[in-house]
Amino acid sequence: MDEHVYPVEMEAMLALDEEVKPGVPYPEILVEIRAKAHEQGLWNLFLPDEEYGAGLTNWEYGILCEQMGRSPVVAPMAFNCAAPDTGNMEILVDHGSDEQKERFLAPLLEGRTRSCFSMTEPEVSGSDPTTLQTTAELDGEEWVINGHKWFTSGANGADFAIAMVVTDPEAPPYTRASMILVPVDTPGFDLVRNVSVMGHDGGPGHCEIRYEDCRVPAANLLGERGAGFVIAQDRLGPGRIHHCMRAIGTAERAIEMMCERANNRESFGGPLADKQFVQDFIATSRMEVDQARLLSPPRAEPRREARRGGCVGKWRRAGGRAAKRIGERRGLTRRWRPALGRPPHGVRLE
Ligand SMILES: Cc1cc2nc3c(=O)[nH]c(=O)nc-3n(C[C@H](O)[C@H](O)[C@H](O)COP(=O)(O)OP(=O)(O)OC[C@H]3O[C@@H](n4cnc5c(N)ncnc54)[C@H](O)[C@@H]3O)c2cc1C
Repeated sequence: MDEHVYPVEMEAMLALDEEVKPGVPYPEILVEIRAKAHEQGLWNLFLPDEEYGAGLTNWEYGILCEQMGRSPVVAPMAFNCAAPDTGNMEILVDHGSDEQKERFLAPLLEGRTRSCFSMTEPEVSGSDPTTLQTTAELDGEEWVINGHKWFTSGANGADFAIAMVVTDPEAPPYTRASMILVPVDTPGFDLVRNVSVMGHDGGPGHCEIRYEDCRVPAANLLGERGAGFVIAQDRLGPGRIHHCMRAIGTAERAIEMMCERANNRESFGGPLADKQFVQDFIATSRMEVDQARLLSPPRAEPRREARRGGCVGKWRRAGGRAAKRIGERRGLTRRWRPALGRPPHGVRLE
C-alpha cells in the first residue's frame, strides 16, 4: 500500500474516469499495479476456496479488507478484491457450471475482465426484490430478457452482467426469480448511462441498463431456476461483511488525517489539537471505530463459516456509520483545497 497504492491514489482515480469505457475494464495505471500484486500473490484474497483463491478465514480476510478500505477506490481493485466482481466470482464458484466457470469465472480470476450485478430497478423498491419486474422467458434454447435496471455498479467496461430476473411469475415470491449471465455485447443489452452518485458519474459507474428482447443461451442460467434469492443471499452475506471491514479502514485513515490536520493547523494562538472541541471529535471518533471493529464479524465470529452470516446488516451499519461520522468531523477540521480541483468521488484526500 505504501509503495504502490497511496502514492498514485489521485492519479488512479482520475484515470478510472478518463480511460474506462466499454472494452476497457481498467486504466493503464491500475493494470500495472494489478500486475505487481498478482506477481506477489496478493490476489483473489477474498475467496475462502483454496482452489480458486487464497483460502483465508473470515478473520484473516477481514483484516485485509480493513487495510484495503484505507484506500477504498484503488486498493480493492489493485488486489482483484473489488465489488461487484468479488460477489460474482463467489457465486460462480458455488453455482456455476463447468462451461460457465471457463467462460465467465476464469477471466475474472485472472483479472482480464470485470463484471456487474444487475438487480435493482427504478420502478420498484430495491429493498424488496420480490417486486422485481424484469422478466426472462424461455424461447426454445434461449432466454429472452426484457426490463429496466439501474445502479448496476461497474457496468461501464464490464464483460458481462449477472441479471436477477423473474423467470417464474406464478411461483411463490422467493422462488420467482433466477440469475442469468448476460454478456454486455449481447444485442438488446443497452447501457443507457452512468447514474450520478453524490455528483459523480464517471469511471465504471452505477449504470442504468435496458434489456430489450435480449437473448442469451438457456445454458446461461446460473444455478437452479427459481434460486435467485438463495444465490443472492450467498452473494450479499459475505459482500456486506467485506464492505463493513473496508468502512472501518476508511474511518481509521480519516482519523489519521484528522489528527495530522489538528496538529498542523494553527488558530487563535495554537494548534487545533489544543482546542477541547477538536479533542472531543478525535476521542469520540477513536471510540466509535473501536466499537465498530469489535462488533464486526471477523472479531465477533473468527470462524470460516461466519462468511455466510445471516444478520450482517447491523455489522455493515456499524462500520458505515462510524466512517460517515468521522468523515464529517474530519471535514470540519480540513476543507478541500480549491487548488486541487474538484474532489474525485467526493473524497477529500489532502
Ligand atoms: C452506490 C450504489 C451502488 C449500487 N450498486 C448496485 C449494484 O451493483 N447492483 C444492484 O442491483 N443494485 C445496486 N444498488 C442499488 C441498491 O441495492 C438499492 O439502492 C437498495 O437496495 C435500495 O433500493 P432503492 O434505492 O430502490 O430504495 P427503496 O427500496 O425505495 O427504499 C427507499 C427508502 O426506504 C427505506 N426502506 C425500505 N424498506 C424499508 C423498511 N421495510 N423499513 C424501513 N425503511 C425502509 C430505505 O432504507 C430507503 O431509505 C446500488 C446503490 C448505490 C447507492
